[in-house]
Amino acid sequence: MSEPSDAEELAALTATLKRHLERRQRAGVRYLPKALAPLPKPATPKEIPNIMAGTELDMLAETHVVVQAESLEGLRSAIGDCQRCKLCSGRTNLVFGVGNPHAKLIFVGEGPGRDEDLKGEPFVGRAGQLLTDIITKGMGLKREDVYICNVVKCRPPENRNPEPDEVAACEPFLKKQIDIIRPDIIVGLGKFAVQTLLNSKVPISKLRGIWASYHGIRLMPTFHPAYLLRNPADKKLVWEDIKQVIKVMRGEDA
Ligand code: URA
Repeated sequence: MSEPSDAEELAALTATLKRHLERRQRAGVRYLPKALAPLPKPATPKEIPNIMAGTELDMLAETHVVVQAESLEGLRSAIGDCQRCKLCSGRTNLVFGVGNPHAKLIFVGEGPGRDEDLKGEPFVGRAGQLLTDIITKGMGLKREDVYICNVVKCRPPENRNPEPDEVAACEPFLKKQIDIIRPDIIVGLGKFAVQTLLNSKVPISKLRGIWASYHGIRLMPTFHPAYLLRNPADKKLVWEDIKQVIKVMRGEDA
């Protein structure tokens, strides 16, 4: 097959950009970021395996359009002093994520609350204590063994739900975090995390407890710890979900 001409390449790039912008528009994005943070250093083709760029086969392809990084540190510095959505104006700290960069298990929540915003660390408030109990008392792991992050990295005002344009602006960073860590299992905590990762509108009550796949990585949807604080009777359902995760981690799944 002959090499594509410059004009053909330009046409393909334009078509990809158009589809990308249309997807963003459907997701509720009303404006484009002012500027992308500078990359940590010029990247060589070898450092960025860009095999999916320009395709729509994998959501991760989009991540490459937004940010290129090979490590969590590189990703954090590429995010920089983020101004990509309106949540930046109310934050004290951007809450990137915490834990083992080689974790086999990632917990993904919705977005930082007040305590997390002040400390710059995810899940450190009351809901965070419950998640820590699940990890330590329930699973027999340490917080440092796993990785914990959120869909949006800045606190929504008054802990309101993240809006579609905020999720759309931040989602590529979550995807890139997962892409870098490549865990065996993701536990999606609550509606926002699960629906974002699965690109689905199915209610969390229908999704929870049933293994799903995020680009080949096992994803266990479960209720958010903050929901459990309000509905403690449902803790037993989350425990059922976590027991399934433990089984797979031990290699005991059917
Ligand atoms: N709720 C979340 O979804 N994430 C946090 O980091 C804290 C509370």
